[in-house]
Amino acid sequence: MRSCASLNMALTFGTMLWRRAMSSLRQRGRLLWTQALPSASLHLQLPQLRAYSTETDPAKSEEPVAFDTESRFKEKPWEYLETEEYIKKYGNNPVWFGYRRNHRGSIPPQKTRKTCIRGTKVAGNPCPICRDQKLHVDYRNVKLLEQFICQYTGVIYHPTYTGVCMKQYKHLTRAIEKSREFGLLSFPVPYVELKAEDYNSVHQAVSKTPLAPALQNQVPWYPWYAWQQPPDKDIARIRRIYKNYLKEETSPA
Ligand SMILES: [Zn+2]
Repeated sequence: MRSCASLNMALTFGTMLWRRAMSSLRQRGRLLWTQALPSASLHLQLPQLRAYSTETDPAKSEEPVAFDTESRFKEKPWEYLETEEYIKKYGNNPVWFGYRRNHRGSIPPQKTRKTCIRGTKVAGNPCPICRDQKLHVDYRNVKLLEQFICQYTGVIYHPTYTGVCMKQYKHLTRAIEKSREFGLLSFPVPYVELKAEDYNSVHQAVSKTPLAPALQNQVPWYPWYAWQQPPDKDIARIRRIYKNYLKEETSPA
């Protein structure tokens, strides 16, 4: 009986300590890690921490899928976006919708990874384009490219926004540029309001400037702009050379 009471006391004391530790940690804004906590001795119900990642279920992806380079969508990649498989997978959302990359620590890195596929090794959480082998970045694949462009400004989304790796981002920007050159995508042209007064000679800034003195006297700006009579010797020489081709004698004014 006595031992039971002491155990109970110890437990409550332990709970108190634990709560204090929790609150101090929260104040500091640190992240809790469940594995480091002595939860077994305290009989506490710890909150279930869940890792938010888009990694596929390990039970489902037991057998590694070989990278099929002979996909039928390689030649015509836009056909994949019309298939039932694609619609079932993504619906009306862009391919990068809901993608969340894994990273160490609480602060996401400022850049995405260089590449998801190195030789035969595929990263654990490949980017939206690398994870789907049937997606091919091509300048003719307009529907896919449009998903990476802001429809209001025409700016290509930053890779940290869509989550694509830098390699695919490079392919994307090149494909979008090429597509624009071929007229498949529109160019973002900023709207500039033209003011008539800026192109008018009545403008104050124009009228205040006096004409150059040379222009007022009707003399050429530079002396070598005026007509210069070539030496007679040279004219005679040219006439002699082109004698057979000259139809009539013309002289400069
Ligand atoms: Zn990638």
